[in-house]
Amino acid sequence: MPTREEVLAELSKVKGPDLQGDIVSLGLVSDVFISDGRVIFSITVPAERAQELEPMRQAAEKVVGKLPGVEKVLAALTSERQGGAGAKAPPPVRPAPAAVDMGSVPPPMQRRAVPAAPEQSAKPGVPGVKAIIAVASGKGGVGKSTTTCNLALALQANGLKVGVLDADIYGPSIPRLFRVSGRPEPVSGRILKPLEGYGIKVMSMGFLVEEETPMIWRGPMVISAITQMLREVAWGELDVLVVDMPPGTGDAQLTMAQNVPLAGAVIVSTPQDLALIDARKGLNMFRRVDVPLLGIVENMSYFLCPDCGGRHDIFGHGGARAEAEKLGVPFLGEVPLDMAIRVNSDAGTPVTVTDPDGAHAAIYRDIATKVWAEVQRNREDGQRAAPRIVIES
Ligand code: ADP
Repeated sequence: MPTREEVLAELSKVKGPDLQGDIVSLGLVSDVFISDGRVIFSITVPAERAQELEPMRQAAEKVVGKLPGVEKVLAALTSERQGGAGAKAPPPVRPAPAAVDMGSVPPPMQRRAVPAAPEQSAKPGVPGVKAIIAVASGKGGVGKSTTTCNLALALQANGLKVGVLDADIYGPSIPRLFRVSGRPEPVSGRILKPLEGYGIKVMSMGFLVEEETPMIWRGPMVISAITQMLREVAWGELDVLVVDMPPGTGDAQLTMAQNVPLAGAVIVSTPQDLALIDARKGLNMFRRVDVPLLGIVENMSYFLCPDCGGRHDIFGHGGARAEAEKLGVPFLGEVPLDMAIRVNSDAGTPVTVTDPDGAHAAIYRDIATKVWAEVQRNREDGQRAAPRIVIES
């Protein structure tokens, strides 16, 4: 592994913004953390120039990536949070109530008005599945799938029956995270039996195509793939189906948000401002289609150094909490950047099941408790807003 000095020496070859000086002597590089083949640092830039300076970030990752012993480099652009850093936030809005569960009462006998969220309640649900939650992020690599996996296991640890739908068709990682492989068998007609990992029913495009197969998805294909995985799978009775969304705010997300009665969305973000700008886009997309926001998880929130035991806020910890408060969305919790989380996730032995008494599992269970409380609260609000009209026959 290279030393910090060696990393900085490489980084000093990267020119600063406007090609003046280099990023190290301009004082733009944060603390550098090196652990387990990974080098992590951030570069401070003005928020409004983030996009334009992306090549600079990539150049920094590239030079460090060439050092012997480096497996992965994570360079993030951060900006000082000074008023106008980033897009203007919309005013806080109360989340819309979730879709009303019609329960077992035959529809003709009972009609409910749900004035606050007519679009959500009009969408057909998935039989047997009481609530569907989307886990989303504005961009890739922030730990969305890792959060989906551990959140699902934590919901299960809290006593719920849980399924996971991997809608991240561009990079399905749920099979690896749950350590499940194989092909789903048909149960009847087109309906497939989901696979199972750690007691959780799992469906993923990763089961249907080879991992290395390059997939070119066009809008309508994305829509039909996700719809099939949702509706043509024998999910059985579930309290909650957790959906790992593809990163970003493209077709797939909109389809889910528009066609599925989502009980809500959890947004995963890293704390740095620029990631939050992306996260905000995700958040606003769900708001536009009236999907309740269950809250924001700050992943890779702080770094606990395995060597010195010290806590380091490399990405500017606390950004997501501040953002959540500003947007009037619940803040669900902070997950540290920890090699144990990465190693276990990548090995298919997620911390929530392999170390249930550990600190990380406790964090995920706490997040799960808050998510579920939010789902219930929305549901109760929805029912209050929805006077029951019983038509006597
Ligand atoms: P996304 O779904 O947003 O693309 P992943 O969940 O695949 O992100 O995570 C990207 C990488 O970061 C993976 O190697 C994962 O193990 C790692 N990772 C995610 N969360 C953490 C964390 N809290 N600490 C350490 N590594 C993490």
